[in-house]
Amino acid sequence: MGRTRREFLKTGSAAALGTVLAGPAAARGILSRPAGAKVISTWQHGLQANEAAWNTLGNGGSILDAVELGVAAVESDLTNRSVGLGGRPDRDGHVTLDACIQDHAGRAGAVAFVEHFEHPISIARAVMERTPHVMLVGEGAERWALENGFTRKEVDLPEVRKAWQEWLKTSDYKPVVNVENHDTIGMVGVDASGRLAGSCTTSGMAYKVHGRVGDSPIIGAGLFVDGEVGAACATGTGELVIRIAGSHTVVELMRQGMEPDAACREAVHRIMKQNPGLKDHQVGFLALRADGAHGAHAIYEGFDFALTTDSGTELVKATFEQKWE
Ligand code: ASP
Repeated sequence: MGRTRREFLKTGSAAALGTVLAGPAAARGILSRPAGAKVISTWQHGLQANEAAWNTLGNGGSILDAVELGVAAVESDLTNRSVGLGGRPDRDGHVTLDACIQDHAGRAGAVAFVEHFEHPISIARAVMERTPHVMLVGEGAERWALENGFTRKEVDLPEVRKAWQEWLKTSDYKPVVNVENHDTIGMVGVDASGRLAGSCTTSGMAYKVHGRVGDSPIIGAGLFVDGEVGAACATGTGELVIRIAGSHTVVELMRQGMEPDAACREAVHRIMKQNPGLKDHQVGFLALRADGAHGAHAIYEGFDFALTTDSGTELVKATFEQKWE
């Protein structure tokens, strides 16, 4: 005999609740739905990204579409020197790009060390959706992209070339990420039903060793999404973030009951503890819990993020440590 409507409703709602109860529920009680959609993304260029993401949601796109098209807007901006084809090259003069994307179900796609493509984030999404793999790199990723409908784009920016040639005169290799306002774009978002997604894309560290890949395309380091708990992304010196599996750490701390800002702070503290005496390296984290609560924290002052909700968009200064202890 089939189930009665009442039983069906009971089972249905229990199943729906199950997805909400899992994860942080044990530590913090039932996670409520967010009041509405929310998108946060790193640095000032996050304003541009959030606008594109919000428009995507407004036009009926999913949260995954929103985080893809949001950061894609920044990839297209050739005045941006740390994301996309306008980015600074490595020490051999190649602009190499890294990106990743992850959805609420944990599905993920990434590309690293790719040249001459405008939208590494969209290639990353295609890797996620059209292959059984998570990450493609270098020449293999480029070939796969060409075979899958992406087209090459040659960009030569005299200003960028000149700055690199200037740098070559001293070739002073300092893998230091500026604490200023222009790094990776990482975005995490939640829709009104609590569905999460995240994206991250960068041209990486300026004048890096050819072949160097940072945290940004690495799931768990530059980005992590756990549909039951929340999402996080990172910016700053990628090596430091990779060593503590930064974004995964932030999400896992939220799973254990920490508030998003406290989780970001704890991840920053771990980096500082692991690297005593290391100075001048900035790292910042953004976190978004499935109920819509968000947080951010950085080592140094200067990290800001764009926050968009139904009430509008604002640029928010992240809290920070003052000293590297
Ligand atoms: N995290 C990026 C990397 O290490 C750089 C950045 O955020 O500025 O490649």
